[in-house]
Formats: sequence, structure tokens, C-alpha cells
Amino acid sequence: MYKKLPIPKSTNFLEERILEKSFKGIKFSREELAYLLYELDSESLYALADKIRKEQRGNLVFLRAIIEFSNYCRNNCLYCGIRRDNKELKRYRMKEKEILAEAEKLVLKGFKTIVLQSGEDPLWDAKRLSKVVKEIKKFGVAVTLSVGELDYKDYAILREAGADRYLLKHETIDKKLFSWLKPDTTLEKRIRCLFWLKELEYEVGAGCIIGLPGQTLDSLIDDLLFLQELKPDMVGHGPFIPHPKTPLAGFPYGNPELVLKIVALTRIILPYANIPATTALGVINPVYRIKAFYAGANVIMPDLTPEKYKTFYEIYPGKGIQKFDLNGWLETFRKMGRKTDLSPINYH
Ligand code: SF4
Repeated sequence: MYKKLPIPKSTNFLEERILEKSFKGIKFSREELAYLLYELDSESLYALADKIRKEQRGNLVFLRAIIEFSNYCRNNCLYCGIRRDNKELKRYRMKEKEILAEAEKLVLKGFKTIVLQSGEDPLWDAKRLSKVVKEIKKFGVAVTLSVGELDYKDYAILREAGADRYLLKHETIDKKLFSWLKPDTTLEKRIRCLFWLKELEYEVGAGCIIGLPGQTLDSLIDDLLFLQELKPDMVGHGPFIPHPKTPLAGFPYGNPELVLKIVALTRIILPYANIPATTALGVINPVYRIKAFYAGANVIMPDLTPEKYKTFYEIYPGKGIQKFDLNGWLETFRKMGRKTDLSPINYH
């Protein structure tokens, strides 16, 4: 348990103290984070995060289009629907040409970032992927990769090919929990990968699964302290959603309100970070994805994998059937007073 902080004399005093620390980039202590997580009411926490988002990142929402190009994975993470032991899943692997054609369509729609995501697929090695990255870079957009843990030299090959960003959620900083959930790797290796990516000057993305079986609130504070040290450029948090074809089937869902609180705390400790309103929040209930934009989020990452593959990238149930209504979202952002970075290309 944490040591109780003296109750501030007024909410204004508390607000000023938090804003000052956030804006000046002063690190928050465990006690302060615990106070904000355990004792501050959710609405006040979201309002603080929203204020910081507005001040530091403005009203622009970034749209980043995801193409999930392979659902093969050599790993067996306990929570994941595309783990290697899920023999009932139909596997697919998109061809280079197909990926490029999809990427081009998305660029023409106005997306400025293409995110290439896959399981840890041994047939898609860094050399092969780097050719796709080089081709997409010719469209004049940013390329984000999310293909898991690689060797330093592979991250370097992909960076050299032009990849700008890399997403590698750390999932949980609780060592025991991590080694139970991810038997093919270690927390040390995960952290090493994240620091390698930083060293190679990628924009780095981390983040947690919230509500994992056995995860405590105190360990989420450890996650925040870790993020404060890592200083990633992007942080995506999603609720745990049990997949029926995994050993974690039947465990309870992560609490979306808790995810929103962790999103808000992340905005407070990392005021400049890009923070997505994750798909998983929307799977629990679309309203939570919208709420995330009032709790510090400034990014949305639509899954625009071709329909014929999308349902097979089911890392958690309900993900593949999510339809992204672009016009609906643009209207939502307009009503929220947010602008987007989408600018469709018109050749006529
Ligand atoms: S979480 Fe990632 S590494 Fe683990 S099984 Fe799923 S796709 Fe593979």
C-alpha cells in the first residue's frame, strides 16, 4: 500500500500542482500516482488529462491505418487468439503486392501513416519486410511497424529501409505475470527491445493490457513509472478481453473505466505522447472509445485490413468484426471540435 498524501486544501491547488509538474516534465512519484489513481474521482482526472492534451497537443486527431498482413505467430501468449496453439484459426499471409495495393488505397484516402502489423511470423523476416517498407515510403507517408520482438540488426534493417515508428506494447511490467502470460520471451528482453528501438531513433510505442488475471492496481502504477522512464512517443492501453480459444477463456473482462483512468494518467505523465483510443475499448462498448478522447487520447488507429482477412486477426473476440465508419468518425470529431490530419488526394 502507498503512504497517504496529505489531502490538498482545494481542488484548485491539486490541479495547479499536477499541471505544473506535467508541463515542466517533472516526474511523478509513486505516492502521487497512487493518489491520482485511488483517490481522485474519475471525472476530475479525465478533465485534467483533457486540459493537458489540449494545451500540449491541441485539437488535432491523428488517424493511422492498420493493415494486419499475417496472422501467423510463433508464440503462444496465453491471452492471444492468434497464438500458435490455436489450431482452429484459419491462417493467412498477405502477398507483397496485396499489401502495397492496400497501402496505396489508404494513402489516396488521405491517411498519412500506414501501420503494418502481424504476429511474429518467421516467414516475414526483416529483409522481406524492408522491401515493403521501402515501397510504401515512396508514397510519402510514415510507416509504423508492429511485428514483435526482433534482433537489434533486424530493427536496424527496417529503420534503414525507412520505417519511422515501432509499436511494441510492454503489456505488463509485473515480471511474474509477464513470464506466465508470455512463455516464449522475458520481460528483460521486451524492455531491451524497447530501448534498442529508441537507440535506433524510431518513434516508439508501448502500452499495457489492463485487467489481466492477477494484475493489481499497484502493478499498474509500476507500469506508469516504467513509462515515465522509457518516455515513449506513443502509448496504447487496452482492456483485457478473454478469448474463448485461449487458456484465459472465462476470466473476467478488464474494466474499461480503469483503462480510461490509466489513459488519463498516461497523458498527465507524458504530456506530448500520442495516445490512441484503442479498438479494444470500442469492442467492450463504442462509447468508451469516444470517452477516451475526453480522457487524454489524440489518435485513432482504424483496422483497415481487407475484409476477407480481418476476421482471422482475432487477437481478442469481437475485434475482426469491428467496422470502421470513417465518415461517422469524422462527423464525431467535428462535433467534438477536433480536427483530423486526413486529407484525401484528388488527382482530378
Ligand atoms: S500477443 Fe503477439 S506475440 Fe503473443 S501470440 Fe499474439 S501475436 Fe503472437
